[in-house]
Amino acid sequence: FKVPAIDNEPMKTYAPGSAERQTLKAALTQMEQELPFEVPCIVNGEPIKTGKIAKQTMPHDHARHLCMYHEADEATVAKAIDGALAAKAEWESMPWNDRTAIFLKAADLVSGKYRYKLLAATMLGQGKNVWQAEIDAAAELSDFFRFGVKFVEELYSQQPTKNSAGAWNRVEYRALEGFVLAVSPFNFTAIGGNLPGAPAMVGNTVVWKPSPAATYSNYLVYQILAEAGVPPGVIQFVPGPPPEVVAQAIDHPSFAALHFTGSTFVFKKLWKDIAMNIDKYKGYPRIVGETGGKNFHIIHKSAEVKNAVIQSVRGAFEYQGQKCSALSRLYVSSSVWKEGGFKDLLLEEIAKIKVGSYEDWSNFMGPVIGRPAYDKILGYIQKAKDAGGEVLIGGSGDDSKGFFVQPTVILSKDPKSITFVDEIFGPVLSVYVFEDADYEKTLELIDTTGDYALTGAIFARDRKALITATNKLRNAAGNVYYNEKCTGAVVGQQPFGGARASGTNDKAGSISIFYRFVSARSIKENF
Ligand code: GLU
Repeated sequence: FKVPAIDNEPMKTYAPGSAERQTLKAALTQMEQELPFEVPCIVNGEPIKTGKIAKQTMPHDHARHLCMYHEADEATVAKAIDGALAAKAEWESMPWNDRTAIFLKAADLVSGKYRYKLLAATMLGQGKNVWQAEIDAAAELSDFFRFGVKFVEELYSQQPTKNSAGAWNRVEYRALEGFVLAVSPFNFTAIGGNLPGAPAMVGNTVVWKPSPAATYSNYLVYQILAEAGVPPGVIQFVPGPPPEVVAQAIDHPSFAALHFTGSTFVFKKLWKDIAMNIDKYKGYPRIVGETGGKNFHIIHKSAEVKNAVIQSVRGAFEYQGQKCSALSRLYVSSSVWKEGGFKDLLLEEIAKIKVGSYEDWSNFMGPVIGRPAYDKILGYIQKAKDAGGEVLIGGSGDDSKGFFVQPTVILSKDPKSITFVDEIFGPVLSVYVFEDADYEKTLELIDTTGDYALTGAIFARDRKALITATNKLRNAAGNVYYNEKCTGAVVGQQPFGGARASGTNDKAGSISIFYRFVSARSIKENF
C-alpha cells in the first residue's frame, strides 16, 4: 500500500464578502444560539454523564459558558482504562493501512464538513480570532492527521537492509504494552487532536484528558474521530479535574506512556510521580512532553528593520502570546533600536493593535484564557515595574466583561530580571538593548538566561551574524528561524519541540514522535 501524496491544508483568508466568511459567521451565530452545550465523558463509545458538572467559561465574556461538561470520576476513569486495554488487541492487529485510513478521513472531516464548527468552538471557547483559529483548528489539525499517516508509513518501512543467505530479517513496530495517557492543553485545538491521535495511529489505545479550557472544541475533535471510524475504546474522552484523572491513570500498572503538552511544573511533577511508581509497571513508561518556553528574537545591527519589527509584533502578540513558542524576550542592537527606527516602528505598530472579542473582525488580539491567567499576567507586569522595568506601551487590562490585556512592552536594563526568565504566557514582551559591539556577549546572555530552550529567531542580513548565533545558541532552542518570527511551525515542514525545561524534544509534526509510541520487535526467519 502507498499513502496518497499529501500537502499542507491551504489556509482560507475569510476576506470581506467571501462565501467562507459568511459560512463561518453563520456557524458562530448558530453556536451562540445553542450554547451552553452539554458534554459527557465518552468511554467505549458510550456517553457517561457523571453529574459532576464543570463549566467552560468563554474568555471574552466570563458571564457565559460554552459548555457544561461532566467531569470524569474515579469509576469512569477506571472504566476508561479497562476499556482501552480491552480494545487494544483488535486495534493493534488491524492492517495499518486500514487503521490509518481512518485518520485520512478524519483530516477530510476537519478540513471539510466540520471546519467552521471547529473554528467557531475554538473562537468562542479559547478566545482566538478567525485567523488564529484557522491555522490551528482547520490547518494544523488536519495536517497532524494527514501527515501522521505518511509518517507511520515511513516508520513501518524502516527495515533491516541486510538478509543473510536463506534468511529474512524484519522489524515489526508493535504498539506499547498497556495504554497511553494523553494530557492536552487549551491553546491549540490541533494539539488536542495530535496527543491522542499520534499514539493511536500506531496501534495504541489512549485515555485522553483534554484541558478544561478547551473542552468543547476537543469534544468535537473526539466526535470527528469517532465519525471517521476510530472504534469504541480506542480513544477514551475523559474531561475532568486534571490532578485526579491523571494521578489515577499514572497509578495503574498498565500505564505505558504519557503524551503531554502543558506547563513545565506539571510535567516535572508527573515525571516524579511516574518514577515513584516504577516498580508497579510492566515496563518503563515512555514520557513525551512539550512544555514551556521563553523564546527570543535577537536583532543584529544588519537586520532589515521593518521585517524584524513586524515579525516581533506577530511573534509576541498573536493569540495574546499564549503559545509555548511565543516571543517574550527581545534583544535589539542599539544602533537599530535608536537611529534605525526600530523602537518607534515597534511602538507605532503595537499602538495600531485592536484588542477585543472575536465579534469585531478587525481585532488583532482577543482575551486571555481565564481569571488565573489574567491575574498572573498583570502580576508579572507589576513585578517588572518593581524591578525597575519601564513600560513603553500597554501595561493594563480590563476584566469587566472578558479577560483582556493590552499588548505590553517592558524595557529593562537588567537582562536577568524576572520577566526575562519566567514564562508569563501572555502578551508581555521584555526588551533589552545591547551595544552593537556586544553581539556575541548577548548571544551568551540569551543562552544563559532562564531554563527554557524552545524557539528563537535571528534577524540579520549579515550571513556571518546568522552563523555565529546559530553556533553559539546551539542548545538554546529546538526551533530556530532566520529573519522570521519564532512561532508558527508547520507540520511536515518544521518539526516542533525544544529541550532543556521546554520538553523532551520529540518533535511534533514529524516522524520522530511516532518512534516514541512503538516498541520494535526483530524477527529473523530461517528458510
Ligand atoms: N507549534 C506552535 C508554534 O510553532 C506552538 C505550539 C504550542 O504553543 O504548544 O507556534
